[in-house]
Formats: sequence, structure tokens, C-alpha cells
Amino acid sequence: MAILVCGGAGYIGSHTVKELVNTYDVVVLDNLTTGFEQLIDSKATFVKGDLGDPAILDEIFTTHDIDAVFHFAANSLVGESVQNPLKYYRNNVSATLVLLEKMIEHGVKRFIFSSTAATYGIPDTDMITEKTTTNPINPYGRSKLMIEQILADLAHVHDFQYVVLRYFNAAGAHESGEIGESHDPESHLIPIVLQHLLGQRDKIAVFGTDYETADGTCVRDYIHVTDLARAHILSYEGMASGKITNKTYNLGNGAGYSVKEIIETCEQISGKKATIEYAERRAGDPAALVASSQKINEELGWKPAFDLNTIISNAWAWHSK
Ligand code: UDP
Repeated sequence: MAILVCGGAGYIGSHTVKELVNTYDVVVLDNLTTGFEQLIDSKATFVKGDLGDPAILDEIFTTHDIDAVFHFAANSLVGESVQNPLKYYRNNVSATLVLLEKMIEHGVKRFIFSSTAATYGIPDTDMITEKTTTNPINPYGRSKLMIEQILADLAHVHDFQYVVLRYFNAAGAHESGEIGESHDPESHLIPIVLQHLLGQRDKIAVFGTDYETADGTCVRDYIHVTDLARAHILSYEGMASGKITNKTYNLGNGAGYSVKEIIETCEQISGKKATIEYAERRAGDPAALVASSQKINEELGWKPAFDLNTIISNAWAWHSK
């Protein structure tokens, strides 16, 4: 039995592959548009291609005994999704439909889906649970919620089961220092701050200082990428053992940190001082997004192993390399 990881050359996908290969045969499908081949663990079988390509999926599903698909392959930039919605509906929705059709055709019945806090939009609560109303405010969040709804419809009529994982702010790098966060161009806070502290950027911009938060900057829930990876494996094993089926879980630390607090922690860990420019709010940013992950804790025993200091220390080690 093998696991197909779509998007296994990307940030969260590659960290999950690194955990999976210890126990399972892994096939990675990635078109390398945003991923990097060198992030894929050498123990995995790599197929370069598009998950919207039915012929490649036929080939994978006939040559490997795939028991589950972990689906990370997506575009994930909120701002870009507003500017180019068709790209998001094509890559995140249409291509996923091809994958799901081929899974059903080949009798592959377990699916772990990378979803996002962006499905909640601007929540009216400080602590988001899975029962918090979903109301995405951009095409990225909508594209993910559409697939969530499609999964529920499929599970209703097919021999098919799924777990949806709604990530909050994925951050950090593998403890080995071998793989870490890499986007081109980079838009995420922690890598931008660390690149600046390494002298690769002149300054950093803080987007908005007038939010209704303790220090006026946005609050997010940062979760170590290895904790995310382990949640995928627990979800798969929970389904395979019959313990759970058709679930949606939040993945976060349950603690919020402001943009200013993140910068301060990066300064402490690196021993360097940042040059900060206070800028306008970035479009589409909610003031605070903090997750309750109580449900996956109660049902699968998952809880984050890494705190913010470890997240940033691991990221600093990776970026410094
Ligand atoms: N942010 C910032 N400056 C940057 C990048 C991000 O102030 O150069 C802020 C951003 O507005 C948000 C938080 O940092 O409030 C986290 O942003 P990121 O893009 O890392 O993740 P998101 O929450 O958008 O998924």
C-alpha cells in the first residue's frame, strides 16, 4: 500500500513526505510550478506532472497500490486570488475535480485535504472552532471551501472518505535543517523577517497598526509545519483503522501572536535588530485568527509539539543555511 502526495514538493507537502517515508511507500505528484524538486525526500517516488492530467493519474493509480491521497497541490496567495480568480478556480477546484474523479474510478477511497483558516473569512469570535460559520472573503478561501463541500457530497454516495484540515499559519522548518519554507516570491511574515535579518532585504513592512488588537498589529496562530505533517498522518491512520471518517479539523496552536511580537521573537533568536516600516493595512487581512484545535485533540490525540520559539529557531537555522 502506498500514499500519493499531490504537491509533495511544496512547503507543507515536503515536510509531510519526510515524516511519511519512515513508515509508508510514498509517490509524489508535483508539477513544480511552486514546489522544488530538491525538497522531495529521496525515499519517495517522484512523478512530475499535473494533478489535472487524467492520463498521469491513470498511470499512477494503475502502477501503484495507492490507499490514500494527501492533497497539498494548490495556489495559496490571497492577494493573487483576488487579482486572478480564474487561476484559483482552475488550479484549486477544476484540477482537484479531475483527481477526485480518477480516485473514484480507480477505487481509491481515502483523501486528506489541505484547507485553510481563510474558509472562515472574518470570524466574529476570538477562538475559531470548526463550528464557526464559514464565510470566505476571497477566491482562495472560496476555492478551498468549494472542495470541502464537494468532498461531503462524494462521501454521501461513493465508497469514499475524507479528512479536511484547516491550517492556520504554517511556519518553521524541519528540525534536521534539510528542508524549510521557500516561496518565490516570498510573502509570508516569518521568512520575510528572517531574510531581512540575514541582510537579504533592506527593511520589513508591518501592514497595519490600527487593528483592534493589543498592539494594533494583526494577530495570527503560528503552527509548526512538522505538527501539521503529523496531523495528516494521524488523520490517515484514524481513517484507515476505522476510528474516524469524514471529519473537518482546525490545526493551530490556540495562541495568537501579533506581527510585532513575531518580529521581536525573530530579533531575539537571531540576535539582530530589524528595520521596520509601518505601512497601510494589506487588503483582506482579518485582525485576529486563532484556532481551537480541541476537536482533533479529543478525537485523534493530536496536539502541537512545538512552540513559537522552536518554530522561529528552526526557521532561522534553515534560512541561515
Ligand atoms: N505581514 C506583515 N508584513 C509582511 C508580511 C506579512 O505585516 O511583510 C502581516 C500580514 O498582514 C498578516 C501577518 O503578517 O497580518 C501574517 O501574514 P502572512 O502572509 O504570513 O500569513 P496570512 O495570515 O496572510 O496567511
